[in-house]
Amino acid sequence: MEQSLVIIKPSGVQRGLIGKIIDRFQQKGLIICGLKMMNLSEELLREHYAHLVEKPFFPTLLKSMMATPVVVICLKGVDAVAVVRGMVGTTNARNAAPGTIRGDYGMSSQENIVHASDSPENGVIETKRFFKPEEIFDYTPVCINFIYAPDELN
Ligand code: UDP
Ligand code: MG
Repeated sequence: MEQSLVIIKPSGVQRGLIGKIIDRFQQKGLIICGLKMMNLSEELLREHYAHLVEKPFFPTLLKSMMATPVVVICLKGVDAVAVVRGMVGTTNARNAAPGTIRGDYGMSSQENIVHASDSPENGVIETKRFFKPEEIFDYTPVCINFIYAPDELN
């Protein structure tokens, strides 16, 4: 199964959306294998957003991501990365489709409520970036055979 790293950003924390966002992923059938609150350092953010450090908006993005603690979540599931990205919606929340997290809760391309990994490779890399090995829990929900058919679990 794939892993996806989700961050409930300061915009989601401040807006009181932590519970609602976690609930959406659980209701979908994604498995929570890591969950914690933390402050993000500039060093960690420069690594996480390495593809954006030259962008003019990077200083405000840094400030925004360090404004309050965030909640980091590791989700597991078949095709979890694409499933979670679909649930999150497009980067600019004003354009994100209704029914997505950004589409339902956001009005900004920066203050867009959540981060989600953009590839299976980054799902693994980002999980290791934000969680220690002992903070990730590999367990099987008792209802796993009611989430997936047997041939989907191989
Ligand atoms: N961002 C921004 N302005 C932009 C593009 C991105 O402030 O024009 C911020 C926004 O918070 C976004 C983050 O930078 O979520 C990472 O950008 P990316 O292109 O990776 O978008 P995402 O994968 O989060 O949809
Ligand atoms: Mg991205």
